Amino acid sequence: MPVTRRSDSSSEQQRLDALERLAVLYTPAEECFDRVTRLAARVFAAPIATFALLGERGVWFKARTGTDLSEVARDDGFTTTATRSAGPLVVADALADPRFARCGLVVNAPYARFYAGIAIRSPDGAKIGALGVIDNEPRHVADSEIVYLRDLAAIIEDELHRRQLALAQGDMLRELGEARRRSMVDPLTSVWNRAGLDTILTRELEASAMRGSPLSLAMVDLDHFKAVNDKFGHGVGDTVLSEVARRLRAAARPVDSVARFGGEEFVVILPGCGADDARAVAERLRSRLADHPVVVGQSLQLDVTASIGIATAEPGEPPSVLLTRADVALYDAKRGGRDRVAVAEPSMRAH
Ligand code: GH3
Ligand code: MG
Ligand code: MG
Repeated sequence: MPVTRRSDSSSEQQRLDALERLAVLYTPAEECFDRVTRLAARVFAAPIATFALLGERGVWFKARTGTDLSEVARDDGFTTTATRSAGPLVVADALADPRFARCGLVVNAPYARFYAGIAIRSPDGAKIGALGVIDNEPRHVADSEIVYLRDLAAIIEDELHRRQLALAQGDMLRELGEARRRSMVDPLTSVWNRAGLDTILTRELEASAMRGSPLSLAMVDLDHFKAVNDKFGHGVGDTVLSEVARRLRAAARPVDSVARFGGEEFVVILPGCGADDARAVAERLRSRLADHPVVVGQSLQLDVTASIGIATAEPGEPPSVLLTRADVALYDAKRGGRDRVAVAEPSMRAH
């Protein structure tokens, strides 16, 4: 029916426009949304919860708890159907429901059997995706539980509103476009990857120079990380890396950018921070890692520390030189005994 098709495509366009304005699709994870999926999984005692965005080509998990997947095909019906539903979508047993029995999420890992989800609206009212919980067993939900799902969805919507007001990097992210952003996020840790770091750092340096405000960066390297892999295996190592990335995001400010520089090295870009502020932020990052063990599975608790090198940009300094100075400072922190912050020397040019 032409009429239906027209309204479908106009709501499709409305959604894509809203996603672009929010600069939320194909961007790194953010603690404010991670927190909600953690709570959703807890409240429903379900192994998996996702805040999924319905993009043009795929379904992107902006926040996820209990799964390593960062994107699935659009015809993986749960998110697509929940986003378009008028109310909550409850699938008691996906295998018994012809709409979902063949979905990738059902026939492949994580082998979903149960799904409960609810659409998320952008601040201007477009349905952009869904908050969903997934279980591997068929189950039923009571209406009283759906109330929690609505509350949690409302928290995400409030966050989107707040974030829209606070997103200092919004223009930069929008300008990059979806396709480039998608190639710049690390799937394991949901922070910027090396290509993302290079792009964001170049732009942040230009922006700081224009504003005449300082910029510092912190280079973070986990201490004796090889021992974690050797003792507990690469899978546990990967879990530790995602938790470290999450803590760095949570400890950083919304204007900061967190990136995975390499294997177990991260960089946090700190716009507006001179040397003293950067040292204080780096101390906070260090203690967020060291103060609580990383919990893996039911019984494993690992003490994780990191060494941090900080450097403050000098006028006209290229990104690569700034990164090298932070790396040299990091090496000083390692030599000084690890689990500490060291400050870079000024570059030779400054003398
Ligand atoms: P140091 O305190 O001197 O930094 O010691 P280290 O053991 O952390 O340093 P080193 O650079 O020798 O080892 C880094 C290790 O990080 C080596 C590699 O096994 C591990 N690693 C790198 N990338 C990944 C990854 O993606 N997943 C996992 N699990 N481990 C990784
Ligand atoms: Mg290293
Ligand atoms: Mg290391």
